[in-house]
Amino acid sequence: MKSILKQILPQPVKALIKKIWILPLIGSRFYCPVCERGFRKFLEFGLNPRPNACCPGCGSLERHRLLWVAFCDLQDKGLIQRGGRLLHVAWEHCLAEKFRQEYDYLSIDLDGKKAMMAMEAIKGERTISEIAGHFEVHPNQIIKWKKQILENVSGLFSKKKDPEIEQQNIELEFLKKKYKKLQSL
Ligand SMILES: [Zn+2]
Repeated sequence: MKSILKQILPQPVKALIKKIWILPLIGSRFYCPVCERGFRKFLEFGLNPRPNACCPGCGSLERHRLLWVAFCDLQDKGLIQRGGRLLHVAWEHCLAEKFRQEYDYLSIDLDGKKAMMAMEAIKGERTISEIAGHFEVHPNQIIKWKKQILENVSGLFSKKKDPEIEQQNIELEFLKKKYKKLQSL
């Protein structure tokens, strides 16, 4: 019954139900850094239910909250640049929205249809037209997704040159040469 209602109710009604449903849980004992709200308690979650595991506001679990805090820390230290491209593998819904707000964002999940199509195209065992025909989408769309994934993946492994470090290296090389010259005099 719950899943049927989930399917037939329009999004604004679902959002309103969610807002009303969490009202009794609002409090100050637990704080969720992902949705930035306080609660009297978190929900149980897991096969062996863990108490206070799941945020009733955004559905984040302990690992999501930890990941978000660590991510924010890296952002604050300037190790991750806001506005850059971000490839989110095996994405979590609660974090996807946060990332989407500040990054050129692409999520992939091997269960996702979009990712499946792009991965098929990358494998190259079937032509783009064949994949497009099979999944009933326009070939250009698959080409775009494939390009997005390849661009983001290559970005993961290529170290962007920091202009400040580059400048320091140039100066260091210059000083080394100078030192060698002085030694040879
Ligand atoms: Zn939350």
